Amino acid sequence: MQLPPLAHQLLRAAATMFLATALPVAAEEKVDVATVERIKTEAMQRSQVMEIVSCLTDVYGARLTGSPSTKAASDWAVTTMRSWGLSNVHLEQWNPYDSGLTGLQWGPLNRGWTSEQFAFRAVAPRPFIINALPCAFSPSTQGCVTGPAIRFDVDSFADMKRFAGKLKGAFLLMDHALPTPAHFEPQARRFTDAELDAMAAGQWPQRKSREVVETRYNLVDDATARRWLVNEHVSALLFTAPGDGGTIFEVGKCGIDEIPSVKVSAESYGRIVRILEKNIPVTLELEMQNTFYENPDVFNVIAEIPGTDPRLKDEVVMIGAHLDSWTFGTGATDDAAGVAVMMEAMRIVKALNLQPRRMIRVALWTGHEQGGLGSNAYVQRHLRDWVRHSQGELSSTKPEYDKFSVYFNLDAGTGKIRGIHQQGNVAVGPIFEPWMGPFKDMGMKTTTLSSIGGGDNFAFERVGLPSFGFIQDPIEYNTRTHHTSADVYERIQPEDLRFNAAVLAAFAWQAAQRGDQTGDHSHGDEYHSLA
Ligand SMILES: [Zn+2]
Repeated sequence: MQLPPLAHQLLRAAATMFLATALPVAAEEKVDVATVERIKTEAMQRSQVMEIVSCLTDVYGARLTGSPSTKAASDWAVTTMRSWGLSNVHLEQWNPYDSGLTGLQWGPLNRGWTSEQFAFRAVAPRPFIINALPCAFSPSTQGCVTGPAIRFDVDSFADMKRFAGKLKGAFLLMDHALPTPAHFEPQARRFTDAELDAMAAGQWPQRKSREVVETRYNLVDDATARRWLVNEHVSALLFTAPGDGGTIFEVGKCGIDEIPSVKVSAESYGRIVRILEKNIPVTLELEMQNTFYENPDVFNVIAEIPGTDPRLKDEVVMIGAHLDSWTFGTGATDDAAGVAVMMEAMRIVKALNLQPRRMIRVALWTGHEQGGLGSNAYVQRHLRDWVRHSQGELSSTKPEYDKFSVYFNLDAGTGKIRGIHQQGNVAVGPIFEPWMGPFKDMGMKTTTLSSIGGGDNFAFERVGLPSFGFIQDPIEYNTRTHHTSADVYERIQPEDLRFNAAVLAAFAWQAAQRGDQTGDHSHGDEYHSLA
């Protein structure tokens, strides 16, 4: 079986990983500096990347998979990429059950959901507005509902029963109020040179992880308890989350399917709790209208720039990011930023009328937030049957597998690209190092053997295809924007996105042109010289 060029590398990587220092130095990877400079000029001086972000977020955000806004965003992306002259631009429908991931997903597979109306306030002891958002997939309230706030301090189902008969119309405070300490550390940051050097040496910097909400008894997983609550006719369940200054984090599963559920900002939640602690009753009023879409059609967006080399044009270089988002913000840093960079990279290559030897294909995935469903369904359909592969069947690959070159993913927020993860593949270091050359004095200089997890690159990686993600400055990703109500257009760094689009266009171009300078010998031979 003839392996695709970079796949060759990946498969060799495991064998060569511990011999890296003993490897003979390969012929140096050539860089098309002139073209990369043209790419940089187009990316910096005629950028459309922020306009793309604005459409994806302001007009179509949030983009929960299976919702009408995600379909509208997808249609817009198709129209836009067609207007740039890209080829074979289309929506590719996928089936959630084809991902090979059933059981791992987070959130329903077969429902879309949108929130259309939401008004939440206290009416006693005096009126005030409550900063809160509907939990994704919450049912609606029956019109406008009013009732007492009750601290639902329970640690088991048995404990719950002491509230029997007292919960009609009530709003249950399901969590403890959270502290919101001052930020003595800056919320936004870039990687320091020392941190990047440590990554290059194989150490990932220690990051402070996000505060964990101290939950009470976990009702969400107890069907009997949930049924009991439904029969008590409560108005709504209130949850809180880390985040302050009005930002609400959309962490973990929020609410239950049977009862209207709301995530309340730490400040509003704290205010209600502190009033109740003074034995002053609080009366709340909520009106929430949400719509479910059962078994919606779901799509990835695909577009291409055809290859032109008679021998190589069927080989595919892929770039991608996920179009779908969670619901609190407008999905700006997660991941309109990545989608806009990928679309812009395609626009740049097309605008410069570059003629790649291999095909360059972009994929804008959906189903990511439910567990990478769209990308895995794509790989399953086009590249390799994961189930059969995992059972050791060699015949699990599809014809396109042998023509697949490499996949690049971007899904770590708005931050500038500072380097690339080799995903444990030693052999690609000497390839990516020179590709970064034209970007080194702009701050992208690091290769790390370490892997980036959680992205759609995993779908390719798990079936043995070379796929990579980038090192990005954190900016406010973990402190403020990732899955939060602050994930909006204003949190995007325009300079970083322009830079990232240049990097992606250049990497796609270099990958599409590889082998250009090395004469007629086959790619297998070329890569063999590295091993
Ligand atoms: Zn993401």
